[in-house]
Amino acid sequence: MSDTTRESVPDREAVHPHFYEQFIEKQHRIFVNRNLRMRSIRWVGFDMDHTLALYNRNFIEALAFDLSLQALVREKDYPRELLGIRYDPDFGIRGLVVDKEEGNILKMDRFHYVAVAYHGFRVLDKETRKGLYTSEPMQLSSPRFWSSDTLFGLPEIALYASVVEALEEMGWPPGLTYRQAFTDIRTCVDLVHKDDSLKSIFRERRGECFLSDPRLVATLDRFRTEGQRLFLLTNSDYEYTDWVLSWVMNDGERGRPWWSFFDLIVTDSHKPGFFHEGIPWKRLAIADHEVPSFSGGNVRLLEDHIGARGDEILYIGDHIFGDILRSKKSRGWRTVMVVEELEHEIRVGLATEEQRAVIDQLEMANSDLLARVARLRRRQERAAAVGAPGPGDAFSAEEKELESRLTRNLLRINELEEEIRRRYNPWWGSLCKVDGELSRFGDQMRDFACLYTARVSNFLYYPPKRYFLSPVEFLPHEI
Ligand code: IMP
Ligand code: MG
Repeated sequence: MSDTTRESVPDREAVHPHFYEQFIEKQHRIFVNRNLRMRSIRWVGFDMDHTLALYNRNFIEALAFDLSLQALVREKDYPRELLGIRYDPDFGIRGLVVDKEEGNILKMDRFHYVAVAYHGFRVLDKETRKGLYTSEPMQLSSPRFWSSDTLFGLPEIALYASVVEALEEMGWPPGLTYRQAFTDIRTCVDLVHKDDSLKSIFRERRGECFLSDPRLVATLDRFRTEGQRLFLLTNSDYEYTDWVLSWVMNDGERGRPWWSFFDLIVTDSHKPGFFHEGIPWKRLAIADHEVPSFSGGNVRLLEDHIGARGDEILYIGDHIFGDILRSKKSRGWRTVMVVEELEHEIRVGLATEEQRAVIDQLEMANSDLLARVARLRRRQERAAAVGAPGPGDAFSAEEKELESRLTRNLLRINELEEEIRRRYNPWWGSLCKVDGELSRFGDQMRDFACLYTARVSNFLYYPPKRYFLSPVEFLPHEI
């Protein structure tokens, strides 16, 4: 049977796109924004940090926070009193935006409407928020704003809020602007990534740095046995990559080294520049193996080297701009976004089903109450129009009773919504949603990633040549 004939036969999985899902726990599922046939993929590429290597985030983020704070005092002469500040691991989720002019941190919906804002750790009331952010469209590309899109970027968000709050309490230093304070913090975070202070502690305490995923090696193995070839494309340098992957891809008894899983290794890649700049690469002479290994480079060199392009390549990464957006937009690669926070988001979603059901019931009860109030008012008006000596007091007592039930229900709905919101994150609520709308992060994840999932190893739950099919989408008028 020719390939074309095969394609035209209805795919049994396509007929039942959710067939496998019923056997897979929700935390382990792969979610589909855009249909993808694994059968058409010849090469699968992997980012390393927060993709193949999952970090113990509480540990490494607190460390990055402390080291950056120390650098701020040491290199930028910030007051020593700041050194007592502790990291709050909840303050900071991906997709937040820093307003450097005002010293605020913002969570937006997909229309860039600012739904939650903090100055330090003080939430801005609705009036202040609206005064600052609704008069003109937000130009997020302007130097006034900084988007925090990576997991490595979370400590700097918490550090900015902490420093703004602490300095204001102590008396804001003359001459320092909110913008300068953010630039100083950014410089210090960058420094601790580059000057080895962070990574030297990682090296000493490797056992505490990473989450182990016992299914990872088997997942890569299966891609290979199914005929797909694999490459690694990371911004980390070779030495660090070697050190990290020897740990997280430790193959136990079988003792296969991490590099034996790859057909090409690219380190120091400078993504997203890798996807649109023309930097040459340098071949690395690695004593341990002969897998072609390069430092730097660009996407054309990579495609020429592997002899594949566009939609024959599937790239798996965690960073919406570094890994997903550019590779998809400029080269047409298919993409998978690893969103480790999904495990928590899904867990909370499942754990709060009961509260959501109560909210639905209360909302239904309220539409019924509203209809009764409207009917009552019409009867009142009709009685008044014919001048009938109606039971005025009885009407208003009933109306009052309906109104107070409505208010009670609304208060209960608010309470339940707040409870749910806090379970996602006490400061920001859900990563993907805001007030029933997609958050900016949720919107980017939906728009740019063909598939998204919490871990690379979730591929192992699916048949190898899976046809990933997206759910049917409806426009509002079709519902
Ligand atoms: P990935 O493997 O492509 O995800 O690359 C992540 C690499 O970028 C890691 O080596 C990080 O230490 C590094 N990195 C993350 N944030 C920063 C930063 O702010 N400045 C410099 N390097 C960073
Ligand atoms: Mg990464």
